[in-house]
Amino acid sequence: MGVPTLGCTCRVCTSSDPRDQRLRPSVAVEWHEVSEDSVDGVLHRVLIDTGPDFRQQALRFGVHSVDAVFYTHAHADHILGLDDLRPLSFSHRERKMPLYANTQTAEVLERVFAYTFSADATYPTRARVALHRLDGPVDVAGITFTPVPLLHGRLEVTGYRFGNAAYLTDMNKLPDASMPLLKGVDVVVLDALRPQPHPTHATIPEAIDWAQRIGARETWFTHMSHEVMHAEMDPQLPAGIRLAYDGLRVPVEL
Ligand SMILES: [Zn+2]
Ligand SMILES: [Zn+2]
Repeated sequence: MGVPTLGCTCRVCTSSDPRDQRLRPSVAVEWHEVSEDSVDGVLHRVLIDTGPDFRQQALRFGVHSVDAVFYTHAHADHILGLDDLRPLSFSHRERKMPLYANTQTAEVLERVFAYTFSADATYPTRARVALHRLDGPVDVAGITFTPVPLLHGRLEVTGYRFGNAAYLTDMNKLPDASMPLLKGVDVVVLDALRPQPHPTHATIPEAIDWAQRIGARETWFTHMSHEVMHAEMDPQLPAGIRLAYDGLRVPVEL
């Protein structure tokens, strides 16, 4: 829902700590490809999800180009910014910006954004994007993104492994079959909604348990609701586990 949550005046929703002001969750993975033509190398950027706050996040954090987008699932808080990819898709180095999603997610995207994806779509300035069904790992400019199946209630959600890191959100079950895909991760981002039980999201204690099973050097919790006050919860977490916040940058090896 984002924090502040609409209609709420609780102490977290009215907190002046910027770490308690949470836009809808997503990440950008950025790297520089060494190139003979440029001293700094070529910047590549992959997004995981484009939620309703995508435009605001892109303006705030300098997302001026996007190579590709991976979707976790098709709930509103993860997809509704897709249309704001339009200006970035017009200047994409390929003819169409590639988007990746599992079959179920792709079907919802095609329905919600029919004016973009339908074979009959005629609107001239629709996003220049090509939606691909995930069928195993995907290579973007030399970096591999591996889908990690997760469960969000009864919905199959896709987490992603890239290099020594993994982004796993919107889940209340980490299937045993997905554990080998996480072998050797040093940095992991995990869903941790709140301390109280929830039918489709991890609680803080469940997320701590997964973090310890995965055994990454660094775990960052994300998707927290207004039941979590950053300054109170963060110091209570075990060593190596922290609460993420908007704008956080974490170095990873790709
Ligand atoms: Zn509140
Ligand atoms: Zn969500």
